[in-house]
Amino acid sequence: MKDLLVMKFGGTSMGSAERIRSAADICASVHKERPAAVIVSAMSKVTDMLLEALRHAEGGDERGVDEMLARLDARHRECCQQLLDPPAQADTQPVLDDILSEFERIARGVLMLGERPPRSVDEAIAVGERLSSTLMAAHLQSRGIDAFALNAREVVVTDAVFGNASPLIEQTREKAANFLAPALQARRLPIITGFNGSTLDGRPTTLGRGGSDFSASILASVLDAGELWIWSDVDGIMSADPRLVSDAKVLNEITYREAAELAYNGAKVLHPRTLAPLMEKDIPVWSKNSFNLDAPGTRIVPETREGPIGPRAVTSMVNVALVTVDPASSAISGTRIMARSLEALATANAEVLALTSSSYRQNFCFLIRTAELPSVIENLEAAFSIELTHGYLHPIDVDLDVGLIAIVGEGMKGHPGLAGRIFTAISAQDVNIIAIAQGSSELTIGVVVRKSGVEKAVRAVHAECRLGA
Ligand code: ADP
Ligand code: ASP
Ligand code: MG
Repeated sequence: MKDLLVMKFGGTSMGSAERIRSAADICASVHKERPAAVIVSAMSKVTDMLLEALRHAEGGDERGVDEMLARLDARHRECCQQLLDPPAQADTQPVLDDILSEFERIARGVLMLGERPPRSVDEAIAVGERLSSTLMAAHLQSRGIDAFALNAREVVVTDAVFGNASPLIEQTREKAANFLAPALQARRLPIITGFNGSTLDGRPTTLGRGGSDFSASILASVLDAGELWIWSDVDGIMSADPRLVSDAKVLNEITYREAAELAYNGAKVLHPRTLAPLMEKDIPVWSKNSFNLDAPGTRIVPETREGPIGPRAVTSMVNVALVTVDPASSAISGTRIMARSLEALATANAEVLALTSSSYRQNFCFLIRTAELPSVIENLEAAFSIELTHGYLHPIDVDLDVGLIAIVGEGMKGHPGLAGRIFTAISAQDVNIIAIAQGSSELTIGVVVRKSGVEKAVRAVHAECRLGA
């Protein structure tokens, strides 16, 4: 459907009755003009609250669970009252109650078992989006719009990697054609839960934290949408996180590759996997601010009209770990150890954010997300159990006191001396450079520094490259 517009509203854009009303205004005016599909996040902080309730449950803290349930209930009940007139409230509140009681059933199960099976966690935390989509759809209906809430479990088919599932695109396309396309053709307005899906045999999954962006891009791709608009709380994609750099400026246009590099290297404004489904189809994306409709936003396109222009943005990540694998003797083939380590990382489903090696000592280190560390270590220790036991490998070293800074831009390769300027600017702040991660892509330079130096280094690089307003 080439005229279809897919829109995604993030947690802050759904954070209160007032915000949902503003989001609904946007939906209503778009829906008048063209077919649209809407993907929503849970109300801000709700996913964190759901996870916290499950942590209390796992720890046997029933009071903690009850408290969290009461807070979740109050937040959505209040929003329902503020958003809907009494008859619509009477229809909608029981739906919210049912959804929340599904969560309660799982939480009580976790409390009894004393553990949180990943599959139950996924089913439980998808509740946040089910609550918010119910509220948004009910509000639009009360305004006379033919909207309906849809659980993405019915449409988005994924593998069974609970907590970080990947879509099965062909199966999702088929379901979207059956479940969604007819409604869209009839000019109905689906309000779809972001973040979740289900396996082919119907087990609930989620796409990783912040995954509603990814849900939106998956659906835009399988529905052959004309455009995707991602509504957030910033004026677009900026030259740096405005919370770290006060003169960060909005970029009018960036390429898919730049946006993907920024997202992978920590720019929270987009989930890292958002761009991939869109790139295949050249579907343009806008990053827009639901708090500031006058700002045009950032357009993300296959090629920028502005041409290759060097560094454009700097981003950072602190929830990372530097893991070093170090052969004890030069008689051991470092290349083989590296190959086997990468195999272990693949088994752990971990992503390598940066990799550096020393040909002389044959050792190498790689940067991964802290969330992936336990499974990475488990797999590395299993893969090298003999070498570690017999001392052919030094014990695997993990450094958690690190952060990654990434400087991103098309055409950086054509800027001789840039890397030197960046390193000098960072060093001038008394921040030690631990590793340089020449990513495989020519549009990113990555630098690993001590955690305490990350923010200083981001500001120094932003200033040195004159990225600001
Ligand atoms: P949503 O809830 O709408 O998905 P997020 O909180 O996930 O929104 O992402 C928006 C936030 O991303 C912004 O508030 C901003 O602080 C942060 N951010 C980090 N890097 C950037 C960047 N380069 N450009 C814009 N925002 C950024
Ligand atoms: N609600 C989910 C989260 O907080 C997904 C999202 O908001 O994108 O991670
Ligand atoms: Mg987000």
